[in-house]
Amino acid sequence: MTQTFPVEKLQALRTPFYYYDTDILRQTLDAVDTETQKYPGYHVHYAVKANANPQLLRIINQYGLGIDCVSGGEIQRALQAGFPADKIVFAGVGKSDWEIELGIDNDIFCFNVESIPELHVINQLAAAKGKQANVCFRINPDVGAHTHAHITTGLAENKFGIAMADMETVIHLAQSLPCVNYKGLHFHIGSQILQMDDFAALAHRVNQLQDRLEAQGIQTEIINVGGGLGIDYEEPLAHPVPNFRDYFATYHQLLRLRPHQTLHFELGRAIVGQCGALITRVNYVKQGAAKQFAIVDAGMTDLIRPALYGAHHRILNLTSDQPQETYDVVGPICESSDVFDKDITLPRTQRGDLLALLSAGAYGEIMASSYNCRPLPVGYLSEEL
Ligand SMILES: *Cc1c(COP(=O)(O)O)cnc(C)c1O
Repeated sequence: MTQTFPVEKLQALRTPFYYYDTDILRQTLDAVDTETQKYPGYHVHYAVKANANPQLLRIINQYGLGIDCVSGGEIQRALQAGFPADKIVFAGVGKSDWEIELGIDNDIFCFNVESIPELHVINQLAAAKGKQANVCFRINPDVGAHTHAHITTGLAENKFGIAMADMETVIHLAQSLPCVNYKGLHFHIGSQILQMDDFAALAHRVNQLQDRLEAQGIQTEIINVGGGLGIDYEEPLAHPVPNFRDYFATYHQLLRLRPHQTLHFELGRAIVGQCGALITRVNYVKQGAAKQFAIVDAGMTDLIRPALYGAHHRILNLTSDQPQETYDVVGPICESSDVFDKDITLPRTQRGDLLALLSAGAYGEIMASSYNCRPLPVGYLSEEL
């Protein structure tokens, strides 16, 4: 199945907006389900920071996934969408007290703890409520990922996690504190990772660390390898579903899971990235001295990835089949970085044409801002149009 657009229906809507193809989302979730069924003890938590649209969350929840949150607001959103609290994992390097209390009050599955001071605070807040909190430690595995420097998180220089050298110290500390339960280890090396070698390197690191813990008689129930599986931004129509088969098989082949352990994943982009497109209307076509600009009504406030990471989204003109010409596609925001793409070919484009920026389901709508006092973009699902 490849993505198609109901152009007449889209024409009637006020632009810009996000359009989510729920057939693609379901096909993606089916693939996750098929691949994880092969391996008992594998659990996928959807990383809600990629997209927290309530209607998408409802569909994702129907497939039985857990959820990965990085803020109190995300925990609230997940609970509202019906995700069970005992499938919530909660990561984040700077959790506030109210966010921790929210997790404790709801008896979430696990806190992914990123520092010793945080562990003490969780213990104190749980004690004040007469409760226990499950904790995993986010270990910085010092494993690089072949991705953009802004989205690699597992190197020693990154702010995330606890150094490998301190692993035993924090576990012993947790075991000595009355209101936290040590459950396991958590990792997350980055995002938009397409080389299975990077996940293989993490699997090997997990094996080393597990051997180290076992030699000291430390029992671990949960291994959480985070997310980061990438999507094909260059050929999204040819590859609407990411390569989940190789992804899970890599861990299955390389990570030595003990019989009593469960292996957890936190996938965001790979689940929602390809189902979403940003639909925008061409306001003007301007002939510059050396260039032709298609000036659209969406900007970096609606989709910030190109400006923030130099990311690339394929662009289709949904309403023209004229001969190809070359354009820079730019937004209306008063920033020079408000450019979606340069020197791309599109069918001859004119005022009023509808463009689709593909692969925009992850880190798109959720990152929108109201800079320039612009209204936030709305999200529509294909099945409700
Ligand atoms: C962002 C994040 C994820 C999801 O990353 P994707 O690249 O979207 O799969 C998973 N875990 C943690 C801790 C994160 O911060």
